[in-house]
Amino acid sequence: MSEQFTDPTCIFCKMVSGEIAVKPLFENSHAIVISDINPQAPVHALAIPKRHVPSFAALSANDADILTSVMFAAAEFARSQGLDASGYRLNINHGVDGGQTVGHLHVHILGGRKMTWPPG
Ligand code: 5GP
Ligand code: ZN
Repeated sequence: MSEQFTDPTCIFCKMVSGEIAVKPLFENSHAIVISDINPQAPVHALAIPKRHVPSFAALSANDADILTSVMFAAAEFARSQGLDASGYRLNINHGVDGGQTVGHLHVHILGGRKMTWPPG
C-alpha cells in the first residue's frame, strides 16, 4: 500500500484537500475526476485517487479499493459525457519513459475524437 495519505507538495493532493480550488466533474469514495489543464481531445479529464499514490507502479494489492474507485470514476465520467457509443481512451503514464509528469496517479480519459495508434 502506498504509505503516504497526502503529500503537501503534490499539486493533485492540494486539489483533493481544497487548498487549490477545483470543481470535480465526478467524485466517488476514493477518487475525483478533474478537467485536464491542457486538453488533448474535446474531452480530456483525469481520474485521480484522493490518497497520494505516486504512480501506477506504487500500487499494491492493498490498494484494490482505490484502483477500483479510480477506474469506475473514469468509466462513469465517460458515460456521463456520452462517450460509451463513440468510444474513448484511458491512459496511464508511469515514469520517465511513460511520459509521467505529475507524481500522483492519474488515469487520462480522452474522447470526442478518433484516437490514433500507436501512441507517440
Ligand atoms: P502525465 O503527463 O503525468 O501523464 O499527465 C499529467 C497531466 O496533468 C497532463 O495532461 C497535464 O496537462 C495535467 N496537469 C498538469 N498540471 C495541472 C494542473 O495544475 N491542473 C490540471 N487540471 N491539470 C494539470
Ligand atoms: Zn498527491
